[in-house]
Amino acid sequence: MKIVVLPGDGIGPETMAATTQILRTISDLFGLGLDLVHDMAGHDSLKLHGATVTEALLEKVKSADGLLLGPMATYDFKDESKGEINPSKYFRKELDLYANIRPARTYKGMKARLGEFDLVVVRENTEGFYADRNIESGSSEMLITPDVVVSLRRITRKCCERIARSAFNLAMSRNRHVSIVHKANVLKIGDGMFIDICRDVAREFPEVKVDDFIVDAMMAHVVRAPQRFDVIVTTNMFGDILSDLTAELSGSLGLGGSLNAGDRYAMGQAAHGSAPDIAGKDIANPFSVILSAAMLLNWHGQKNNKAEFLSAGKAIFDGVAHAIEAGEATKDVGGKLGTKETGAALARRLSNL
Ligand code: ATP
Ligand code: MG
Repeated sequence: MKIVVLPGDGIGPETMAATTQILRTISDLFGLGLDLVHDMAGHDSLKLHGATVTEALLEKVKSADGLLLGPMATYDFKDESKGEINPSKYFRKELDLYANIRPARTYKGMKARLGEFDLVVVRENTEGFYADRNIESGSSEMLITPDVVVSLRRITRKCCERIARSAFNLAMSRNRHVSIVHKANVLKIGDGMFIDICRDVAREFPEVKVDDFIVDAMMAHVVRAPQRFDVIVTTNMFGDILSDLTAELSGSLGLGGSLNAGDRYAMGQAAHGSAPDIAGKDIANPFSVILSAAMLLNWHGQKNNKAEFLSAGKAIFDGVAHAIEAGEATKDVGGKLGTKETGAALARRLSNL
């Protein structure tokens, strides 16, 4: 399996270094033959190539089996015509990575303020308020007069159907429960269609329990009893917001691994950003990126029916859980180790399996 590795900005390089160490270890242990190809995107690429992402890089990614994207400091990217493109958005669009899978769970050895839970937010990743590719202006926002802005939300049958199917397929490998999150009481047509399509897809999965929640009420339900949920499926912006909440409820943003998956390609990416306040200090939690990499291995294993990749993914998930329980982790999750030593300790733990 060939994986393109783009370390990114801020805490990206250090967390990615810990991750590649784990990938090399796991590749040797499970005979995965991983080929890690390092390249650059973001500020480094802007300096060297005049754009934060290039078409050559896209071609390289397309010819590989997966992508690991580090966090990008995008706040000073303003003009796409000057090459200041958000790489995350670019790859999601160009590779049609329509499902953003964001697990959130508690671990033994950490304080679980709301009790133990284990859920996954499945967020539609290509349309909603963030859709811009079919709108000629290149943006989903329009300044009608200097004082009036209209923001458009695009919901299509095709995208609802494929995100629903991702959620139900995922639920089949978990606790067989899907919760649909929407605002159909206000967005009657768009979210009405989203619910109807989710319910249609649900008929193909009679073993899966289905319920639905209005997004505002959902915030209260998740905070009150996150253990009520298994797989949560929702549209783009609701999923963006809800998954930050669930990541934080799990104990640390540094545990937020995620996968952006389409039918052909997938990209592992921590759910958090570049965290410039802690960059270069060897204190960032690398588990978010390591868990994202494990999700990428799982995805490859499922897609190509390769059991060794599924076993490798599971070994990493279990290894992270045991490491946290043993306190072999960074401070944010109750440990005492630095970024580098956390990666090294996990590599030793995996080697001793
Ligand atoms: P960006 O603009 O790139 O999103 P940010 O300043 O918003 O950067 P985030 O990465 O979104 O920062 O994270 C918010 C805060 O959460 C950080 O300032 C940091 O303290 C904490 N944090 C994020 N990721 C980690 C991590 N991997 N390990 C430990 N703490 C983290
Ligand atoms: Mg941020």
